[in-house]
Amino acid sequence: MRIVQKYGGTSVGSVARIHAVADRIIALRQAGQEVAVVVSAMGDSTDRLVELAREVCAQPDARELDALLATGEMVSTALLAMALCNAGCRARSWNALQMPLETTGPAGRARIARVGCDGLKRDLAEDVVPVVAGFQGRAENGDLTTIGRGGSDTTAVALAVALDADECQILTDVDGVYTTDPRMVPEARRLPTVSFEEMLELAGQGSRVLHLRSVEFAARHGMRLRVLSSFEPGPGTLICEENPNVEAPVVCGIAFNRDEAAISLTQVPDEAGVAHALLAPVAAASIEVDMIVIAAPRGGRVDLTFTVHRDDYARALELARNAAAKYAGAAVTVDDRVAKLAIVGSGMRSHAGVAAKLFATLADEGIQVRLVSTSEIKVSVLVAEKDLERGVRALHAAFGLDRAQP
Ligand code: ADP
Ligand code: ASP
Ligand code: MG
Repeated sequence: MRIVQKYGGTSVGSVARIHAVADRIIALRQAGQEVAVVVSAMGDSTDRLVELAREVCAQPDARELDALLATGEMVSTALLAMALCNAGCRARSWNALQMPLETTGPAGRARIARVGCDGLKRDLAEDVVPVVAGFQGRAENGDLTTIGRGGSDTTAVALAVALDADECQILTDVDGVYTTDPRMVPEARRLPTVSFEEMLELAGQGSRVLHLRSVEFAARHGMRLRVLSSFEPGPGTLICEENPNVEAPVVCGIAFNRDEAAISLTQVPDEAGVAHALLAPVAAASIEVDMIVIAAPRGGRVDLTFTVHRDDYARALELARNAAAKYAGAAVTVDDRVAKLAIVGSGMRSHAGVAAKLFATLADEGIQVRLVSTSEIKVSVLVAEKDLERGVRALHAAFGLDRAQP
């Protein structure tokens, strides 16, 4: 079997951890598997590089920021390759320029266009373990790029597809995908399997256990994707096609994220095209808008509220203010103390009353819902950040996700 394994930041966070990862790779090879490895930067070193850049200047040049951030993964690939060689296992580190792993799109948000893996295939044929730097790529002009925070998962899946691997394993600091983040809800349960479409929603709504694009990529190519602990043995969670013989759970999990901010434009004229006029400048700045609600018009005026990622908040606010200035009487209000939570499950398609139960549960907790957005298999709501944890816990219990107590 050919396996691509990806080790996240905590899993390669110290010299001792790097040796432990090397031992694990060697054991897998001794069991007869062919292994290619992708690694993240050590521990929180990417965060520290971002801080360093911000100490130098408030708005670092995007090209240079990518050049800096890409160094984190180069450190861990070289160290892991050294540890493997030292333990008697031939290994070679690879960065995106060497492979090359080609990307398109802007710095910091580049997308993988092609994975050059001739050298990696040669390594595998010669019994050498290739150790690849996650998160980075090479732009058309030869510049180093990065593909978005948490992106090493996506590098791993792209590599698994390019190498025609049998499975892509994401080794991390939890032993699988849980019904919700086990750090927030200790009653959360590990899920043995999750369907691609449920995992897409969970990742899209903020479960950072897998990078959203890694799930998209794996689903598109039918790549078996497994989340495992890098610390202890276990079956982990397999992300795969839905099992047609088993009834899908109504709610399989709850995702949440604190990274949103809400911007409201109030008292704008209720005219055709006004939403476009207000949101077009935000879109033109490549700022992704998540939830949108337009309140029922009163006296020829409406309120429009939308949410964006907190990193884009200041820019979106400025653009919204400029757009609203064109309408006399319109005002802009903001709230960055909001959070989003979402219940996800394929069984929702065939069950009525899921949203009603969500609203009832939150109402019992005295939690006010600010915005709602739904898909066939998801209901997500925006709440005050202070209510987030209480809301997640209450919903986790209400939808029967809590682990049975011994
Ligand atoms: P890595 O550095 O290995 O990429 P991440 O920090 O990106 O690790 O992802 C693992 C973390 O994801 C866990 O420590 C956990 O707190 C968080 N997490 C969020 N939602 C879930 C979930 N549903 N199941 C498991 N872990 C989750
Ligand atoms: N090191 C990068 C980050 O911290 C990429 C990753 O860990 O996946 O975002
Ligand atoms: Mg991650």
